[in-house]
Amino acid sequence: MTFLSKKLKRKFPIFSKKINGHPLLYLDSAATTQKPKNVIDTLTRFYLHEYGTVHRAIYSLSLEATEKYDAAREAVRDFIHAKHVEEIVFTRGTTDSINLVALSFGKRLEPGDEILVSEAEHHSNLVPWQMLAKERGIKLIFIPINDKGEIVLDEYKRRLTPQTKLVSIAHIFNTTGVVNPVKEMIQLAHEVGAKVMIDGAQAIAHTPVDVQDLHADFYAFSGHKAYGPTGVGVLYGEREILKQLTPIQGGGDMVERATLEETTYRQIPLCFEAGTPMIAEVIAFKEAIAFLKEVGIQNIQRHEQKLLEMMTVELQKIPGLKIYGTSPNKGAIISFLQEGIHHLDIGTLLDLKGVAVRSGQHCSHPSMDRFGIEGTVRVSFGLYNTVEDVKRFVALLLETISYLQRK
Ligand code: PLP
Repeated sequence: MTFLSKKLKRKFPIFSKKINGHPLLYLDSAATTQKPKNVIDTLTRFYLHEYGTVHRAIYSLSLEATEKYDAAREAVRDFIHAKHVEEIVFTRGTTDSINLVALSFGKRLEPGDEILVSEAEHHSNLVPWQMLAKERGIKLIFIPINDKGEIVLDEYKRRLTPQTKLVSIAHIFNTTGVVNPVKEMIQLAHEVGAKVMIDGAQAIAHTPVDVQDLHADFYAFSGHKAYGPTGVGVLYGEREILKQLTPIQGGGDMVERATLEETTYRQIPLCFEAGTPMIAEVIAFKEAIAFLKEVGIQNIQRHEQKLLEMMTVELQKIPGLKIYGTSPNKGAIISFLQEGIHHLDIGTLLDLKGVAVRSGQHCSHPSMDRFGIEGTVRVSFGLYNTVEDVKRFVALLLETISYLQRK
């Protein structure tokens, strides 16, 4: 099987909507995915009929909500093949997960220690480390990327030293879609005793993720980029490492025993989940995972790779169009620029035809600096995109380019 069924699109209510009088052509799944009806229905049903707090009360509504919430944690564990359920911490999203590691793991670092990140990270995987570096006198070291958008592995190896305490790297770059050799990078980092944090925001809904096979120390992702609700994310942390970290927020539900002077914390993962969590969102995220599993992550990957190939071939035929990120290892993202035309003009005119693409810096100014550009047009796929979407996009892009060239 190559392509997924076109019928999948019907499971997403938003596709019955018209945008500026045209059927929606959604090509911004790297920013956030649309939601299938089962996820929306779960959210609604929970708020209408099942709403209650978790982990605190002994009445039926709360007990049932707690059961569902805990079942979601197990579903995430299974989905990323973590060994233990307590390795799954619910957060608000990738950004929140990375900040948790920066603040908690960061407390163990000392002046002179080094953290490695690449030149092409999302701001979420750069700014928390910059903040930490300033605060604790840690050195932030940058791994260069080549003109194809790939990590330069030799340069990475040269930068790994006994001072390296952490490497934090995207599994898939959000600007170019280039897939990093994270398994190899983790192994190399472990050889010098460094821990590795993988930013899986662009990988989780597009490629199988097995944290045990990767030997990742930390792996972060967002529910909303994987067909789930906003406001829920995950931090996977290897059990022994998580146990050594101290909580960064104090509050309800993370306390074992508090006196006026002193508090002992609950075990992982609850010690990292202070306060009432995003109950409905976590429960609905379980439905998103069930949906991904039903379609099959390998099938999704094959489907999106086929769309990527088709789109790349078509875009390469357009004179003056340059693709950024030309590595053969790519996820479901294509970034490009058309000579003589501003990326924002392309995005704005495409919107008038019902097409949703990103134009800008994609929350990664350093990536743009690396390529010496101001921004790109970025097309990204989800499992609902079809061959017809690719054809329609290419036709509308050609129309847009030719209109803008005539002006
Ligand atoms: N990391 C990468 C690679 C991303 O693409 C994104 C979002 O676009 C993030 C981190 C941040 O995700 P969130 O805004 O869901 O926290």
